[in-house]
Amino acid sequence: MEQRTFQKYSNDFNFVGYPLYYVVESSYGTQLMCSDCCTEEYTGEETIKVDANYDDHQLHCHVCSDKIEAAYEEDDESEEDSEYA
Ligand SMILES: [Zn+2]
Repeated sequence: MEQRTFQKYSNDFNFVGYPLYYVVESSYGTQLMCSDCCTEEYTGEETIKVDANYDDHQLHCHVCSDKIEAAYEEDDESEEDSEYA
């Protein structure tokens, strides 16, 4: 099994500190994962796409169900106001 560690935050020049999530394509299908799960599940067989989460506050890891942190604060006028529906 190949060992690889996936970053939780971007650390590129001019692109530092953005929360990252991973789109993992394998024989099981496509899953969205947080960095921890991606690091844990990675075997070297998968195709991994990394992206930064800027403002999607409904993004969750498919494996551990943890919320993927967004770079920007949630708007006050949230569309997801289920409490008052
Ligand atoms: Zn996870």
